[in-house]
Amino acid sequence: MRVCVIGAGAAGLGCAYHLNKLSIDHVVYEQSDSVGGTWVYSEETDVHSSMYRDLRTNLPIEIMGYPGFPFPKRDKSFAHHSVVLDYFRNFYEENVAPSGNVSFNSKVTSVRREDSTWAVTCVVDGREKKTEFFTHVLVCNGKYSVPRVPEIDGVETFSGTIEHSHNYRQADAYRGKRVLIVGSGYSGIDIALEISIVADACFLSKRSRDPLRLPSRIVLKDNILRIRGSEVIFEGDSIEIDCIIYCTGYMISVPFLNDLVTVKEGYEVCDLYRQCLSIAQPTLALIGLPSFVIPCLVFDFQIRWVLAVFTGKWPLPSVDEMRKQCDENMTKRILCGRGDLKFTHNLRGIHLWNYLDTFASDGLGIVDPAIRRAYEATAAARTRSIENYRDELLLDIGASTISTQSFRPRE
Ligand code: FAD
Repeated sequence: MRVCVIGAGAAGLGCAYHLNKLSIDHVVYEQSDSVGGTWVYSEETDVHSSMYRDLRTNLPIEIMGYPGFPFPKRDKSFAHHSVVLDYFRNFYEENVAPSGNVSFNSKVTSVRREDSTWAVTCVVDGREKKTEFFTHVLVCNGKYSVPRVPEIDGVETFSGTIEHSHNYRQADAYRGKRVLIVGSGYSGIDIALEISIVADACFLSKRSRDPLRLPSRIVLKDNILRIRGSEVIFEGDSIEIDCIIYCTGYMISVPFLNDLVTVKEGYEVCDLYRQCLSIAQPTLALIGLPSFVIPCLVFDFQIRWVLAVFTGKWPLPSVDEMRKQCDENMTKRILCGRGDLKFTHNLRGIHLWNYLDTFASDGLGIVDPAIRRAYEATAAARTRSIENYRDELLLDIGASTISTQSFRPRE
């Protein structure tokens, strides 16, 4: 066995850790010169990471670590992003670096099937191309780097600036401006909360009909109908705007896989068993696709299960059976999202616990109920106070004994 891991973010480092533990030969290709992926903040724009200067986590760090590797204790449960990067750097130094299997500045440009192996081609240090051969491939390239940009009638006439949250770094750039944020996901709301403190006016346009309680300095708007010059037109009214920030999410993108997988509209990677293993090519897996999850926890389950499949410890059902299960589960999730394809990999609510239960019933470890309580308490606190939940929940979680230590998986 020789495994190729693409990316050294949270998912790729988790793979490297487990591969080392199982003494499986592997190489991790990382396009940049460091580990941490999303958590590597840079003032530069158009880079891999979409991190902004003042971001604090939206989950308590008590549940953000890999199982068995808790974050060091801190006063603040919702930490600045630099704390998370330190965590991954330390994890790398202690658990991954000693084996020397990470190849930095190595961007994977192509993965092809050649005879019965995987031919993986990389560009090293921006010039030299090299191809190496593997029996298995784990794709961990992240899914928050390719901005999803909405189509808006007349946008080409807009006289102000347009940016995507991928390139948003800090609020100062919007001081004294009239800003329209498009999208009400995590980034849309957090960025609106930051910008509305310094902007002349801040509007947030949202598609979803779900109620949203924001401070009065942010004015809620419906879907945009069209744009004419500096005027943004909604049903019934219009506003003059200097800057638009699209917080409209990202497209799943795996260009180096050529046509090994189909990605529908940037939302759905088709034909994956348990949302990670390619059914057509079961020596290829994508780690980290599900959204609305506890990322490192889900990555860890996916990785251990995929490696059990790769090493023959977990025999796969027939292709027909895998496709049937995959379709049934996907249909349930998409129906929950009223038919919207973006719900394909969305594990909001009960879907997350059902997903984790599937792995648990294979003997991969039970998630401590304290983790679920903390996760649900976070969601409830955010609904109660979208602006202050990070500080208000601190006491609850800080006072409890929740720790990733307590859900160390069974060996
Ligand atoms: P990434 O961290 O994106 O890592 C992918 C790695 O692959 C990168 O290092 C990249 O350079 C490398 N790579 C990409 N393409 C190639 C290639 N072709 N060849 C070689 N290397 C390649 N999660 C939380 O748990 N809590 C939070 O509070 C939280 N906040 C977030 C805020 C923002 C703004 C964003 C964008 C995400 C947030 N997340 C949060 C989710 C976060 O992305 C995940 O927790 C996790 O870090 C994702 O890890 P990953 O390894 O899948 O991807």
